Amino acid sequence: MKDIFFEGDNRKDEFLSSPKIADNASLLQDIGVIDYIESMDRAVNSYKSLFVRGLDICNHTSIDEIIEATVYQISDHFLPSFLAFLWKPLQIREDITIKAYKNYKPVDMNLHIDSITPFEAFFRQNPKPVRFCFLASLLNNEEIVKPFQDINTEIIVPIVGPLGLYGIILIGKKNLDDEYSNDELFFLHQLMSFVSQGIKNHLHYEHSLHDVKTGLYNHGFFLARLTEEVIRTKRNKYCSTVIVIDVDKFKNFNDNYGHLAGDKVLENLAQVIKKGVRSDDIPSRFGGEEFTVLLPHADQDTAWNVAERLRINVAEMKVPWDVPLPHVTISLGIFSFDQNSNADVNTIIRRADDALYTSKQQGRNRCTIWHPGITHQNMEG
Ligand code: GH3
Ligand code: MG
Ligand code: MG
Repeated sequence: MKDIFFEGDNRKDEFLSSPKIADNASLLQDIGVIDYIESMDRAVNSYKSLFVRGLDICNHTSIDEIIEATVYQISDHFLPSFLAFLWKPLQIREDITIKAYKNYKPVDMNLHIDSITPFEAFFRQNPKPVRFCFLASLLNNEEIVKPFQDINTEIIVPIVGPLGLYGIILIGKKNLDDEYSNDELFFLHQLMSFVSQGIKNHLHYEHSLHDVKTGLYNHGFFLARLTEEVIRTKRNKYCSTVIVIDVDKFKNFNDNYGHLAGDKVLENLAQVIKKGVRSDDIPSRFGGEEFTVLLPHADQDTAWNVAERLRINVAEMKVPWDVPLPHVTISLGIFSFDQNSNADVNTIIRRADDALYTSKQQGRNRCTIWHPGITHQNMEG
């Protein structure tokens, strides 16, 4: 098959193009020089092809794109019965995302795997692809191994980084039950090191945008997106909103139930916030027990409805714990801005914050929209 990624070198023809050598071509053929040059051409071209394919994979801008490029690149060489990519979107959580392909098409393989932790210790010590049968005999644990055997896993490729095992890639037996040749295994191993690097880079990038405890966006990302949004609302003349959220009397909660219970509440609350907003909104942890949501293209009325929904959902939230926990409530402040507001990032946050403090002052578990006249002074008064 013609390689669309690069033109291979052809040193043999180059060599034979010199007149003196051409005159002696049959002698060179007899003593094996031409075959040798041809074999060197093949080796160099296969390394170049691998390198170019690997770079193509690494340069994609999302994990989904990296996976699609990998499936495409492998499809040029052979047909594994399946390919499955399993990774932890957040390193602090066990949850995994799975994407599987058969015949190069995405499929739901119904894999009964909810954690990759059983492989963590092995791959931390041996961060290289292995034949699954070898790993299975080392692990010697029927329960862990069975879901992988059920789908005929042949090779397992780890994605390992400074934070441990980020994911694994499973490669099925070759269709028609052929064994992988040594060349094919070499190709797979090398290509997969690019794939694993590409996925790892994206996971690191994602981690750098998110808060470790809650999984929401972090303070830095919120500020960056808000800065961008201020410019966009001015340029494109639309309205966006910031909601600031603070947990009510959370110090008392920690004092009564402990910080671990408090952390569990923050984790659950973050999920309620995330589920209660649109996918292009930016729910973030501002710090401590304070959260923000940036709602692009949302005016005051829309934002009020979102804020009220969040307030009610949080008040109804039940957090499972060793002992029954009381319901927690939140107070919210809302500030909407457009090209007329002439408000910079700090002013926007300050105003949403002032509205939040008005909610606190008026009894908590409520939402307030900023309006001129709301200030910290009148809160303290
Ligand atoms: P208010 O209704 O006025 O907001 O009262 P509050 O007690 O929530 O306010 P205060 O600022 O006095 O206390 C905030 C508390 O939030 C103090 C701290 O123990 C708690 N907190 C902040 N970050 C975390 C966290 O990551 N985990 C836990 N468990 N608690 C946190
Ligand atoms: Mg606070
Ligand atoms: Mg508070």
